[in-house]
Amino acid sequence: MFKVLHKENVAPQVDALIIDAPYIASHARAGNFIVLRIHEKGERIPLTISDSDLDKGTITLLFQKIGKTTQDLGTLKKGDFIRDVAGPLGHDTPIKKYGHAVLVGGGIGSATLFPILKALKEKKNKVTVILGARNKELLVWPDRFAEYADETILITDDGSSGKKGLVTEALKEVTDSSKVDIVIAVGPIRMMQAVAELTRPDKLKTYVSLNPVMVEGTGMCGACRVSIAGKTKFACVDGPEFDAHDVDFDEVAQRLNFYKDEEIESLEKFKKKKCKGKCKNQRAKGSRSQGVK
Ligand code: NAD
Repeated sequence: MFKVLHKENVAPQVDALIIDAPYIASHARAGNFIVLRIHEKGERIPLTISDSDLDKGTITLLFQKIGKTTQDLGTLKKGDFIRDVAGPLGHDTPIKKYGHAVLVGGGIGSATLFPILKALKEKKNKVTVILGARNKELLVWPDRFAEYADETILITDDGSSGKKGLVTEALKEVTDSSKVDIVIAVGPIRMMQAVAELTRPDKLKTYVSLNPVMVEGTGMCGACRVSIAGKTKFACVDGPEFDAHDVDFDEVAQRLNFYKDEEIESLEKFKKKKCKGKCKNQRAKGSRSQGVK
């Protein structure tokens, strides 16, 4: 059992939980994730370890309350328990002295970049962080990123914070005006695909973190299979980060929608149960249960 020590609202529909998990905190590296189950009959969901504190023995999980399980997770409060948290899982982000690294975060995906930023700074890289969201309210941890990054560029679709535009526009400005040695992008699939297309002509090394449907997280079920340079890989054990120029993004996008109907049905049942018939007209918007990974 894993105790919730703290809960904070990060953005509309986005919460962060700090969990007591000393073993995971002491082994977690940038890029790792966990698989959790809230209770014995719960669905297993993967979430990136967005931060960890070795001294306090805690990990931070940030998630968007978008599907049944993430909505359920959002009902937990300080002092509540999560039944199972397995991890750390997945390969570590390849961290070394690159020179100038640019981290590109889209929406909730940005949280995955926080431990990567800290690890790159420990290796004395210059790090530019680009955080993009639909509007100011949806930007994830801009102040926390700014504390560690050499430069933080905010960009929103509606211009309510920072520049107006998409993260790819900000990335183009950075790559046009300075020498960049590596790009790491995390966010919606189509955003990561757009970043890959932007850096492909110059063969600029680019990693993306993939978030396909994942079940057990240890390579046995095959649910998270992705095609990388024409070969089948499993995001849980071979990734979650891959060379962006090798990823078949269309296949990832298609497979992400595979269980959409079941996910909508499950969320509607959950909501009905929660509001005990008082909110009959609310229909689930329908998206994956997964929060961060
Ligand atoms: P969103 O759709 O609001 O997009 C966030 C930002 O990404 C936009 O403001 C824009 O700057 C950029 N963007 C989006 N589409 C783009 C495109 N086609 N071209 C260029 N830039 C684009 O994001 P959201 O609603 O916060 O959703 C976050 C997504 O990130 C979810 O799909 C979630 O599954 C995914 N995610 C991925 C990971 C991962 O590990 N890969 C982790 C967490 C979340």
